[in-house]
Amino acid sequence: MRKIDPRNFRRATRTTTKEINRQIVLNLVREYQPISRADLARRMGVARGIVTPLVNELIEAELLVEGATGASRRGRKPTLLHVRAHDRLAVAVDVRLSETQLMLSDFSGRPLATELLATPATPEELVDALAPRIRRLVDAHVPAGECQGVGMVVPGMVDRATGRVVNAPTLGWRNVDLRGALEEAVGIRVHIERDAVACALAQMWMGQGLIEGADSFAYVTISDGVGAGLVMGGHVVRGHRDAAGEFGHIPLSLEGPACLCGSRGCWEAYTSTTAVVARYLGRELATRESYAQVRESRLTVVDVIARARAGDAAAREALAVTGRYVGLGLAAIVNALNPARIVVGGDIAAGWDLIRPRVAEALAERTLTQGAAATPVIPEPHDPQTRLRGAAALVVAPVFAAPAVG
Ligand SMILES: [Zn+2]
Repeated sequence: MRKIDPRNFRRATRTTTKEINRQIVLNLVREYQPISRADLARRMGVARGIVTPLVNELIEAELLVEGATGASRRGRKPTLLHVRAHDRLAVAVDVRLSETQLMLSDFSGRPLATELLATPATPEELVDALAPRIRRLVDAHVPAGECQGVGMVVPGMVDRATGRVVNAPTLGWRNVDLRGALEEAVGIRVHIERDAVACALAQMWMGQGLIEGADSFAYVTISDGVGAGLVMGGHVVRGHRDAAGEFGHIPLSLEGPACLCGSRGCWEAYTSTTAVVARYLGRELATRESYAQVRESRLTVVDVIARARAGDAAAREALAVTGRYVGLGLAAIVNALNPARIVVGGDIAAGWDLIRPRVAEALAERTLTQGAAATPVIPEPHDPQTRLRGAAALVVAPVFAAPAVG
């Protein structure tokens, strides 16, 4: 199946259908809002008469709204167009090992309310804990707009066809129908996705310019777990059975530390939150059980970064070594896919200045061309809601996604 790239609209304008042109208009408004009809026509390289009926249809479908009037050198001031975001709501759920966060947001990702709970031990308990909270959030904001769906991100692989969580190693959950159970409990459509994939979608649809329009990039999350969301040619790479992008479990060595996936020496076992804290404390992650012992210290990567900044030599050394391992894993991504850029999210991004030289060194050492070694690696600015925006993007993205053709 061929898909139309909404960014590459020039090729589409002459040859394809009205539906695709509508989608192009919608995406141009999303990207350049507020924007006038005349500007839209200029950007599409078509006459204004072609744009006007498309815009009218989108206003009628309640996808666009007219806002303030813009400046004009002469004549009537143009009315500017916006994507209708403020009264279209989504519930975002971010499930992590330690805690689960909820956010009600509008379609631009603006938060209206948030809630936090400790992640229960089983998926059944999680659904029981989430359902009343979601209903409460939605009920409290019904006058503000309509809830279009629930987006949920999980630290594990999700089968797109069934919505089942196939394997979430950090939670120890396998083959769980979280989507179905939650949908039944709240009566709202639920979308579920692996955390890193959702965050990559958020970079595309609600991003803050970190990918600068690149149509191939990797979003790497390094926190409790380590994973990558990969976008190539404007499309998320999911693989045959949605299991692509599991770079967290690429082995850096055959005899390395134990990983929660059951294997040894995975990239995640060297760079996850627990791995960094263990390194700082001088502990070894010899078995799965040792993870719990390290977590008992209650230290986080943010603590280790703070101690390093305060001059703690052990913290500085632990981060420097971690930087090397981060770079080795990024080199594997570059060698496999050669993305235009890599965005790194998660707690480690806050200490990027402390690890950047070691990351760059390892990347240069393990990539094969100068161009590959120079792949821009961008730490995501600290934002406690980045995964929640990813969850919201699961509800928002289908509205803007290009229709399939051919
Ligand atoms: Zn692993």
